[in-house]
Amino acid sequence: MLCIICREPQEKMSDEHVIPDSIGGFYHIYNVCVVCNSKLGELVDSPLVNHKLTDLYRFFQNIKGKSGKVPNPFYGITFYSKEEPEIKARIDVGNEGDIKIKYHPIVKVKESNGFVESIEIEVDTENEREIDTLINKIIKRKGIPESDIVKSEFRREIRTGGVGGKWEMDTLKFKIGLLKIAYEFAVDSIPEYYSDKNAVEISKVLKGANYEEVNKYAIIGNGLDAKIIEPFKDYLDFESKNHYLILTESNYGLLCLVKLHNLFYVGIVLSDKKYLNFHDTIVGLNDIENREFNKYKFSDVVNKCLASQHSFRFAYNLRSEDEAKELGDPNYRYEGNEKGEIPLYRYNGERYPFLVHELLERSHVEFSRCEDLVISRYYFDNDSEYFVKTMGTGKLYQVVAAEITQKQVRKF
Ligand SMILES: [Zn+2]
Repeated sequence: MLCIICREPQEKMSDEHVIPDSIGGFYHIYNVCVVCNSKLGELVDSPLVNHKLTDLYRFFQNIKGKSGKVPNPFYGITFYSKEEPEIKARIDVGNEGDIKIKYHPIVKVKESNGFVESIEIEVDTENEREIDTLINKIIKRKGIPESDIVKSEFRREIRTGGVGGKWEMDTLKFKIGLLKIAYEFAVDSIPEYYSDKNAVEISKVLKGANYEEVNKYAIIGNGLDAKIIEPFKDYLDFESKNHYLILTESNYGLLCLVKLHNLFYVGIVLSDKKYLNFHDTIVGLNDIENREFNKYKFSDVVNKCLASQHSFRFAYNLRSEDEAKELGDPNYRYEGNEKGEIPLYRYNGERYPFLVHELLERSHVEFSRCEDLVISRYYFDNDSEYFVKTMGTGKLYQVVAAEITQKQVRKF
């Protein structure tokens, strides 16, 4: 079996998480080899899942990891007391996501003529036990005899102000994790994409963890801009914490929009070829609460958002003034009108072996909206002519499109 990352035939394949499981991904594929899987985890997934923003998000949402702990987004950052900048601190996060400020000990050694006059140590009240250890270290280093030491102690509470710190954030590396998600989703959803020349290039970028090359593909949005998914906001519930993958067309070519939590948003241009039309857009929904990942056609997503009660009408190709008049008659009915099972005829009166709703399923559809009403317009193919039969007179009228108006009742 060919591995989609190294593109070599491999015997040992793995269970690859397209969206890393540590951020609640439930999308698995099985065509990445064991070696590539482990490299991807280390060099490609890691800058994304260990990103300070991922930690910060999980911290604010109180999402515990496998260790049962809420991550500490402040780890590794030195904070400074606002009132006395020489006082340094770090911030710890408790198991329940509570914040604790821990001051670093301050040690001042006063010397004159090469002799130590005094050692002053300030520690956090919680760390009083550290004082002796620190003093002993200094005494040893300075070679002070035990008999010369006079200990005194005083306490004061000084740490009342806030702390500030400098937070450095990766703005480049994490995008490779998003590129991987988009690439694997596309290969899994459009099999012929695997042979695309851009797909071959992207698999090399991923295999070599070539961070600089990612910006060639991650060109829509800066990685954090929610605006890029707006064209889909009417139907997809972007307020939810769920992850969404959207494979669609764009002016650039094949595009994958990736939304992880309410945090990372990026548009990856996967190819200059289009592969899909807008109405064939594929939506991958990673439902965190129900722990599952499913793919949907965007047109099915739209239908799931709409109430079943709807109005239906045809667009006619009228051949004369008389036809227009007849159709305008309030008593005009065509066969199947009441039941919604509408038969279709050829010009010569021969009946087609399918009904209107079957024709709709394979027609090009365009959506438009008016407040909470959604209008789906289905255009029939031009290869054939379709007619409906008038009740009573049996006259045939040509129909070229159909329009269904439905109320939107939910987002997906
Ligand atoms: Zn491989």
